[in-house]
Amino acid sequence: MTADHAPIRDVVIVGGGTAGWMLAAAASRYLNDGQRRITLIESEAIGTIGVGEATIPPILNFNEFLGIDEAEFVAATGASFKLGIEFVGWGGEDERYLHPFGRLGRDLHGVDFHHFWRKFRDHPDTGAITDYSMSAAAAAANRFAPPAADPRNPLAHLAYAYHFDAGRYARFLRDYAEARGVVRVEGRIAAVDRDTPRGHVAAVTLDDGRRIDGELFVDCSGFRSMLLGDAMGSAFTDWSHWLPCDRAWAVPCARTAPLVPYTRSTARPAGWQWRIPLQHRTGNGHVYASAFMDDQAALDLLLANLDAPADAEPRQVSFKAGRREELWRGNVVGLGLAGGFLEPLESTSIHLIQHGIQLLFALFPDRSFADIERREYNRLMTSQFDAIRDFIILHYHATQRSGEPFWDHVRTMDIPDTLANKIALFREKGRVFRYDDELFAVPSWVAVLIGQGIVPRGYDPVADSLADDRVLDMMAQHRRAYADMAAQLPDHAAYIERLIAPS
Ligand code: FAD
Repeated sequence: MTADHAPIRDVVIVGGGTAGWMLAAAASRYLNDGQRRITLIESEAIGTIGVGEATIPPILNFNEFLGIDEAEFVAATGASFKLGIEFVGWGGEDERYLHPFGRLGRDLHGVDFHHFWRKFRDHPDTGAITDYSMSAAAAAANRFAPPAADPRNPLAHLAYAYHFDAGRYARFLRDYAEARGVVRVEGRIAAVDRDTPRGHVAAVTLDDGRRIDGELFVDCSGFRSMLLGDAMGSAFTDWSHWLPCDRAWAVPCARTAPLVPYTRSTARPAGWQWRIPLQHRTGNGHVYASAFMDDQAALDLLLANLDAPADAEPRQVSFKAGRREELWRGNVVGLGLAGGFLEPLESTSIHLIQHGIQLLFALFPDRSFADIERREYNRLMTSQFDAIRDFIILHYHATQRSGEPFWDHVRTMDIPDTLANKIALFREKGRVFRYDDELFAVPSWVAVLIGQGIVPRGYDPVADSLADDRVLDMMAQHRRAYADMAAQLPDHAAYIERLIAPS
């Protein structure tokens, strides 16, 4: 082995927000061969962004990957279960729909279920597309139980994620990582030193003069992007012409009953408001476009629309939609907000961190930092970001809201070709293809496209190869099975209480 290909021994994680501690936890379990040093630097004075409470189902894989016990996790983070997102006022002012997790109906003859739904849409027994989702049925009944293992049981089709207190999750992961050897350094980074001739980051220097050398640096410094953006110069690709929301107010209030197992997103005149139910409080926020609404009006609107009086000072955050051109440059990988930002409409940021960690492990470099590994990481990560971007733009663009400058703008703006193509294909005969390895699968696209009011003109002709009465029978059975099963599940809050009760 030449020296160049020697294994990396010093991994330095810059930042201790959700991104930093998720990576530290995963690295402590999977990269800790007894010889590798994993150091995390964070500054309590700078703090973390302190928002980010809703997740999507792959988070279960991450927790499992770490061997985390669900009951312990739910107790430690104040978590509740999440079966989807309810969108209020998005398609039209008086409309609402659920984007549920998991599948929609059962595919028949290789044809996606929604084609049959489209075919029989006007039949009196057909109902809404989400009537064919186990997660939606449980959400509507405010009930929860984990999926059944037996695939013949309708409950096997339930998919879920969590709402949790992001600060407590970071703390939980910190305990996990430190117990497995990650060294935490408290301090503010004042300078980043690069070597020659490669231009790699060689060390960071803290403001008290301490110098921390490393071989691989992972930038988890949040919006500052100290290493990837500032030091390495990976340019920011700005998407604010498609996603003009650039600020948010966030404030918690007391928990109110019932504890619903879903996030709510309510469209507002210049953005939208989130409602995230946790065990100990409800998280709320108003994401808005400052070009269309001033800060005070945005705050007033949020405070006027809480379930209960605010129980902390509202916090404001500014951001810009977009990502770094390269998420990995030289020996620096950017994770979390240091790599890019997409508003939390579909709760995708924590997932992008998780995906970045998994890809980094899959392409873990040695000291040669082979170009091919870095390029592959960048290809896979940027395509993941770009597909999620399209999915989020869809919610804004496909609306019938009119007469409000913000909504008129997003409804009529040019959209990325990739999204325009997806919408046009769906409008024609309901076809949806998952591009590359994109996060959102066909049922998610279908739930949102139909939820936002786009009903296909036709359907896949292969759907006609099955006898109508047989299909209608099956649809009725399915719908009933999900509703019946949902009615038997425990109440969501009662399920949590039992789960975390000391044994
Ligand atoms: P941060 O939390 O900002 O952490 C940065 C770290 O870097 C801190 O530890 C800081 O101390 C350290 N640091 C910075 N500079 C220095 C320095 N000079 N020296 C030493 N240390 C330094 N995501 C979801 O998945 N679901 C959601 O529901 C969701 N909601 C959101 C709502 C809003 C309004 C916003 C803005 C984001 C939301 N997100 C959500 C995104 C989510 O908050 C982030 O992806 C997540 O918190 C990760 O943040 P981070 O760790 O990258 O950055």
